[in-house]
Amino acid sequence: MNLYRGCSHNCVYCDGRAEGYYVEGEFGKDVAVKINAVEILARELDPDRKRSPFKQSFIMAGGGVGDSYQPAEEKYQLSRKTLELLYKYNFAVHVLTKSTLIMRDMDILKDINKQRKAVISFSFSSVDNRISSIFEPGVPPPDERLKTLALFKKQGFTCGMFLLPVIPFVTDTKGLIEQAVKCGAEIGVDFIIFGGMTLKQGRQQEYFFNTLKSHYPEQLSGYRSIYPGDKWGQATTAYYSRINRTFSRIADRYKIPKRMPLSVFKDILSENDLVIVLLEHIDYFLKLQGGSSPLGYAAYSISKLKEPLLEIKEKLLQIKGVGRSTEAIILEILETGSSAYYRKLAAGGGQ
Ligand code: SF4
Repeated sequence: MNLYRGCSHNCVYCDGRAEGYYVEGEFGKDVAVKINAVEILARELDPDRKRSPFKQSFIMAGGGVGDSYQPAEEKYQLSRKTLELLYKYNFAVHVLTKSTLIMRDMDILKDINKQRKAVISFSFSSVDNRISSIFEPGVPPPDERLKTLALFKKQGFTCGMFLLPVIPFVTDTKGLIEQAVKCGAEIGVDFIIFGGMTLKQGRQQEYFFNTLKSHYPEQLSGYRSIYPGDKWGQATTAYYSRINRTFSRIADRYKIPKRMPLSVFKDILSENDLVIVLLEHIDYFLKLQGGSSPLGYAAYSISKLKEPLLEIKEKLLQIKGVGRSTEAIILEILETGSSAYYRKLAAGGGQ
């Protein structure tokens, strides 16, 4: 949910600044507050107003173009009121933030966690306070984020670290990735999601390069070689593969899952969603090992289906992207709620 449009955290790399997201005003200063979001959500979630019940799943409070706990939340409390509604209607939640303001809502989050499930994740581009002060000027420094995450962990929450995005040639080094993973391991985080940065041409790139020029001018030329200027701001596959492999080796050494573990979500998701997520995870693990995989495409096709997979078990091969081996994996998930192949890959095993 994007309860706010725009974000005064003003991270230098934020792609919410890119033209394609249509955030009006000056990004980092102007923030649109969706003051009727809670009212609309209350109507959407009310089972008495629906012909078929709203699908049960995790609701993710943490937006792509605005942190749900940015300073405006102190006054408007949209995240708090949303959590109260989600508690009322028995939803599980996953909150992703960079702000320690989430501490204010520990009480309602505890209620949700007891009743259903609340996952708390913090994002980092590194755990280096000095670098963070350059690239994340509006958020609490990493050590405060880590302390807050540790408090949630002690209170029995499932906790995640999003080491995302790492900043090319600044925080994507083996040393800084390991430092972050080590901090996560010390807290006992349940998983770390890792990823590289996108850099879209236009506002996002201009703003980012201005800061880079002031603090790391020697790195500019490297950026030109890894960002070919594609529409989505993606870096080259070779670059992403390199940093993914570095992270993967470190995470394996610290025995930290690279995806949210199945035990966290298996009782929350519908059968179709469980299949989609596990296929996505297998796809991710295979690509981490340098292989290719059709499973991401199969997961996408299944996400478009209206029927429960259990009702079309005989016709799985008609789904785009599903071949014999994928069919076998899907049937196993439907029958057992898991997959031996998934467990092997998640444990760091090969194909
Ligand atoms: S906290 Fe997230 S949404 Fe806000 S500026 Fe930073 S990256 Fe963008």
